Amino acid sequence: MPYEVPALNYDYNALEPHIDEQTMRIHHDKHHQAYVDKANAALDGTEFAELPVEEVLRKLGDLPEAIRGPVRNNAGGHHNHLLFWESLPPDGGGDPSGELAASIDQTFGSADALRTAMNDAGVARFGSGWSWLVHDGNGLAVVSTANQDSPLSDGQTPLLGIDVWEHAYYLNYQNRRPDYLSAIWNVVDWDSVATRFAAV
Ligand code: MN
Repeated sequence: MPYEVPALNYDYNALEPHIDEQTMRIHHDKHHQAYVDKANAALDGTEFAELPVEEVLRKLGDLPEAIRGPVRNNAGGHHNHLLFWESLPPDGGGDPSGELAASIDQTFGSADALRTAMNDAGVARFGSGWSWLVHDGNGLAVVSTANQDSPLSDGQTPLLGIDVWEHAYYLNYQNRRPDYLSAIWNVVDWDSVATRFAAV
């Protein structure tokens, strides 16, 4: 089954003032669509086209070398953005709760400390990439990936990803990546993170 960009579950302007409507339209309709189109083109006619995108990203090493690079970039871009859209509903924000909150407190000290660690990882990422909360098999960790690399390809389970490509924030924040990173926590949906955490 070819990949598809799912419609957002909220309006393009629903994340304002933290993320503006034009950024959401271009990011979702153009950037994500381009990853999907290129991933589908790379996988077309191969046995890997039948697999869930998560499985493809976990076994990049099994892919034919000729398509490994394009699939890493574009299937990675597809899956990263799937996680991103579902983590950003307009009623997001606040703090985690339940077992997720307990695990965050145990690992990082507090939700604020986690936010700081993810913001620092996002600021430190040179060029384009992502800041992540992952489960690494032993517990929670903050990591950063370059480009559209997925934590799945490193054997980790991504729980929350913050896109730090300029296309995610440039219209509103220009060079001020730290301001974008501070603002996005107003729309992060901890329930979706908790659901992924519970499934690990
Ligand atoms: Mn993006």
